[in-house]
Amino acid sequence: MSGKLWVVGTPIGNLSDFSPRAAQVLSSVDFIAAEDTRVTLRLLNHFGIKKPLVSYYEHNKRGRGGVICDRILAGEDCAIVSDAGMPAISDPGEDLVAQCASLGIEVVAVPGPSAVVTALAVSGLPTGRFTFEGFLSVNRRSRRQHLEEVKTERRTMVFYEAPHKLAATLQDMLDAWGDRRIVLARELTKIHEEIIRTTLSQAAQSYADGHAKGEFVLVIEGCAAEASEEAFSLEDAVQMARSYTDQGLSAAEASRRAAHETGLKKNDIYRSLL
Ligand code: SAM
Repeated sequence: MSGKLWVVGTPIGNLSDFSPRAAQVLSSVDFIAAEDTRVTLRLLNHFGIKKPLVSYYEHNKRGRGGVICDRILAGEDCAIVSDAGMPAISDPGEDLVAQCASLGIEVVAVPGPSAVVTALAVSGLPTGRFTFEGFLSVNRRSRRQHLEEVKTERRTMVFYEAPHKLAATLQDMLDAWGDRRIVLARELTKIHEEIIRTTLSQAAQSYADGHAKGEFVLVIEGCAAEASEEAFSLEDAVQMARSYTDQGLSAAEASRRAAHETGLKKNDIYRSLL
């Protein structure tokens, strides 16, 4: 009988976020596929878990994926972990999960923290609808194309970025989209955690000298409706606000969000909603 693939989330900083279920699963599988075996070994040592590790990362995943699937098909249970957070989210694992799924292998989630959802939750920006954009490419052309593609995106957008590329990324975003609100979630769950709520122009200015340190998630307000092409009626906006009040928001907050998304006046929406 075939084994299973367990997709196990690990902390994005604070080791106390490692769940008892994650520890139990890592202790009970036959082997662990890890992005960097040295990083995972430190985690396992901390929690007193001993388990054979195989490496599974960007540059060996094609060949290694087949070997892992063969072992699972032969009856072994495997857990996949990345260096931090949920595997397969801007990390190795996506292909292994797809490969297992296509072979009919059962894939089981052991959810843990993920920087994208953690940053979004504390951003204070609308969370009802959002898009995850991952990392911008280092290739200038693909980068510009990506920024252009999402220029009129109205949902909140979440990007990952490395500290040494932050200054260039903020400037490129400002050039491509103009000014808007941004939240920089830095060193989440770690000692120097910081949630910086500012604007793209201010952020581009304050990080221009390239001094950024630590890990960052960028949560960026979607495009205001008047800048996008769609036109909304007051009725559309009120309906949108009503769906927000149904989700538990106050009438004022629901009207504010609907105003942002439709470009209509908040007070008009608020009055009609009431
Ligand atoms: N799989 C991971 C997850 O589920 O969050 C993401 C891995 S991705 C290779 C690494 C990026 O995630 C970093 O460059 C940063 O943008 C973000 N990140 C990871 N940990 C973070 C933290 N503690 N604080 C802020 N951003 C973090």
